[in-house]
Amino acid sequence: MKMIELIATKKEGKSHTKEEIQFIVNGAVSGSIPDYQLSAWLMAVYFSGMDFNECAALTEAMANSGEILDLSEIGKYVVDKHSTGGVGDKITIILIPLLAAAGMPVAKLSGRGLGHTGGTIDKLESIPGFKTSLEMKEFISQIKTIGAAIASQTKNLTPADGKLYALRDVTSTVNSLPLIASSVVSKKIASGANVIVLDVKYGRGAFVKTQQEAEKLSQIMVEIGKRLNKSITAVITSMDQPLGNAVGNSLEIIESIEVLKNRGPKDVRDLTLYLGGLALIKAEMAKNMEDAVSRLEKHLDDGSALEKLKEIIIAQGGNADVIDDYGEFPTAGHIVEINSSSDGYVSCLDALKVAKACKILGAGRDKKDDVIDYSVGVVLNKKIGDRVFDGEIIARIYSNSEELSKISTDILLDAFKFSTSKPQEDKLIYKIIE
Ligand code: URA
Repeated sequence: MKMIELIATKKEGKSHTKEEIQFIVNGAVSGSIPDYQLSAWLMAVYFSGMDFNECAALTEAMANSGEILDLSEIGKYVVDKHSTGGVGDKITIILIPLLAAAGMPVAKLSGRGLGHTGGTIDKLESIPGFKTSLEMKEFISQIKTIGAAIASQTKNLTPADGKLYALRDVTSTVNSLPLIASSVVSKKIASGANVIVLDVKYGRGAFVKTQQEAEKLSQIMVEIGKRLNKSITAVITSMDQPLGNAVGNSLEIIESIEVLKNRGPKDVRDLTLYLGGLALIKAEMAKNMEDAVSRLEKHLDDGSALEKLKEIIIAQGGNADVIDDYGEFPTAGHIVEINSSSDGYVSCLDALKVAKACKILGAGRDKKDDVIDYSVGVVLNKKIGDRVFDGEIIARIYSNSEELSKISTDILLDAFKFSTSKPQEDKLIYKIIE
């Protein structure tokens, strides 16, 4: 087989055989196919797409490109949850200790930020000492002892995704439905969990912009799961505006701790309870959503979910004092208040622009090796539908550079739009695909 011919096949809109896909994946991992040919092929896939058979073959080949974890000794059901990427999406940090407190083992392999979106691993690393790179033996042993572990992807798990993901990030081929679907599902298969809940985001701050695209992406992932014998539930949720109020690494961990203390923003709490509820139902631990949510709420009320986060932080070498003293986090040098210059209601809060305002401050990376500033970011005081008076504070920028604060302020002000009448409320949860 020759890679140049396979690129031509895809460029002409034809389908690949399973063997051809295996050849490409093998070549990506071994390095026998150069990056320029892989990049050309990714672009051909971006424009020509893939059918279900090709998506399933690509997912299976990527999953099998490395180790597949065997979690059968942990229990009948082990949960994994994955978001397709958003802004201010800190659900994992709350959901994992919450489910573990409810007795549901969770094996969570997470990623770093991709494009404009934040990554759970970067956020957790803002906790001083927190170790995210665990040996698989350590990872499994921690789940056995405290019920949950959150670790970064290792080289041994889906190395093909590691290679293609990095190339997609620099060739503008991230937002291709078959490539997102195979990337997400291959990791879920390799991570060994058997209750898989996917949060598929659409809107300004997501990789897919419309509900229709998100629905198509969800159907592809659920269908791949069926073909590969994994039960996958996809929940389609809005990412037009950021989730919660905080965007930026340590700021998001603080907001997560607030939710675990029964105080944080309602949208974050509601989505966490919903995704957690689905996981409990799938794992036969709850009869229906009402039952599942009331069980989970008890663990927020009695502090056991917060206690579980503490256990996870300690088990992974982090400073658990951050829970009671937010001053233990890296702190930004100055805080800039952003004031409204209009009277009315917030009618739009563009999540992509908020992400850009944070990235300028140093909360994300432009290049793979860029160093993140964990302390910087934005805390929003007003969200879509909120009443705003002229001069009122609508957001605060946490920064370590006056010059960058100014650029960030302009971007952030541009993210807000106002109207004279109250806009219709955007539904956070649009649809479930099973
Ligand atoms: N998350 C992933 O794991 N892969 C993608 O391609 C996009 C989001």
